[in-house]
Amino acid sequence: MSDCLFCKIAAGEIPSNKVYEDGSVLAFRDINPQAPTHILVIPKEHIADSAAQITEGNSAVVAHCFEVIAKIAAQEGLSDGFRVITNAGAAAGQTVPHLHFHILAGVSMAEKLL
Ligand code: 5GP
Ligand code: ZN
Repeated sequence: MSDCLFCKIAAGEIPSNKVYEDGSVLAFRDINPQAPTHILVIPKEHIADSAAQITEGNSAVVAHCFEVIAKIAAQEGLSDGFRVITNAGAAAGQTVPHLHFHILAGVSMAEKLL
């Protein structure tokens, strides 16, 4: 989608602090981190605005996102634990309508929402 921020980041039209990249997935550091480690993992292709649009037809790249998340957790040394969040829709706090997964780590989240 031409007017999508994360499509532009995936295409390299907007710079990002990349953590991992392969043919179908990109991971980069959040511009406004909510934890000492805050990384966004996105399918490069705009397969869905949010998790509400994941289907049998597009979920293979979602599974790959989670393989990448495990790799990043090892690469970043997140052995103490990490949280993966996806916001779907405005009421959930989603601000960028391109499916993405937040990896958060480096602070104890045991007492928080989940
Ligand atoms: P959402 O609220 O949609 O779940 O998450 C969107 C995330 O994208 C937010 O945490 C926000 O800080 C991040 N973000 C927004 N614009 C940019 C940008 O231009 N670059 C990077 N690296 N992150 C961004
Ligand atoms: Zn997009």
